[in-house]
Amino acid sequence: MLSLDTIRQAPKALLHDHLDGGLRPATVVDLAREFGYDGLPTTDVDDLAAWFRRGADRKSLELYLETFQHTVGVLQERAAIIRVAAECAEDLAADGIAYAEVRYAPELSTERGLTLDEVVEANLEGFRIGSERAAAAGRPIVMRVLVTAMRQAARSVEVAQCAVRWRDAGVVGFDIAGPEAGYRPTRHLEAFDYIRHENFHITIHAGEGFGLPSIWEALQFCGAERLGHGVRIVDDITVEADGSVSLGRLATFVRDRRIPLEMCPTSNVHSGAATSIEDHPIDLLRRLRFRVTLNTDNRLMSNVSLSSEFQTLEETFGLGLGEMEWLTINAMKSAFAPFDERLRIINEVVKPGYAHLRAEASRVVARA
Ligand SMILES: [Zn+2]
Repeated sequence: MLSLDTIRQAPKALLHDHLDGGLRPATVVDLAREFGYDGLPTTDVDDLAAWFRRGADRKSLELYLETFQHTVGVLQERAAIIRVAAECAEDLAADGIAYAEVRYAPELSTERGLTLDEVVEANLEGFRIGSERAAAAGRPIVMRVLVTAMRQAARSVEVAQCAVRWRDAGVVGFDIAGPEAGYRPTRHLEAFDYIRHENFHITIHAGEGFGLPSIWEALQFCGAERLGHGVRIVDDITVEADGSVSLGRLATFVRDRRIPLEMCPTSNVHSGAATSIEDHPIDLLRRLRFRVTLNTDNRLMSNVSLSSEFQTLEETFGLGLGEMEWLTINAMKSAFAPFDERLRIINEVVKPGYAHLRAEASRVVARA
């Protein structure tokens, strides 16, 4: 059994986390007061936290997304974005995360006149401040930004151009998010073509609220290097009664090409992409050696941390330190940071961290 404390100490990497899905409830209340946002359902911090969690667990991606109007509602000023981004870096570092890519759609923060570039600049500035504070507290973290476009809107080309403008300042890739059914990735082909022609990076939310056609378009038309969630790839895998497994053409391609799956089990149960943690395909995909990574998605709405997600997998599927290290190295191999930076984190942070925890565990066993 791994304790939550051991899991927190283990170095981890996070590839799929939304800035507007990870605010501290108290910060939402503070910012609403400071910047005159009067739309909150309650200004009591505990009630608000409970409200977000109830709002998320409604088994529909569209209903899940409704709760974001309030986090986005308080992210309309530069100072608010900086504060939220700085706290995000501190919270992830405190959870033992060594490397994180956190995504945000700058078009959501333009209601009071901020430009896309001003939003991205504030996001990066907040990460710089939060990482400095985390390092000073003895928990160094590398924070990178993914710039997201909303799939139901029509600004993806502008957003993609904005992402590329900030590539040397900490933005490492481009994504699309939002309701999936009815808004397939090829609606945004022009943005993806632009990103590819710039030799920049693409991950796409696909196979969460919609099935295999969305994954297929993301990979074969849009050039996705990773899949956000990708849970529905399991629709292309057949498990027979005798336990033998056969993969269809798309699942075979995803496994053969080592395409990373940014999996977020608790969020998938809340949005209805999986019926329960027990039935979540993450363990089947892990055993089949897909390039699986473990992620949080929305820490506020789903009431999770990366450590709590690892604990959930430990309790449900019996995963231990070895599997945690494998999932973490998968994530570092799949990160959009440059190769030398990824290698450094694997060799200087991840491997020594797990070796240390394994040595401690064997000392405990030897003493017993
Ligand atoms: Zn997501």
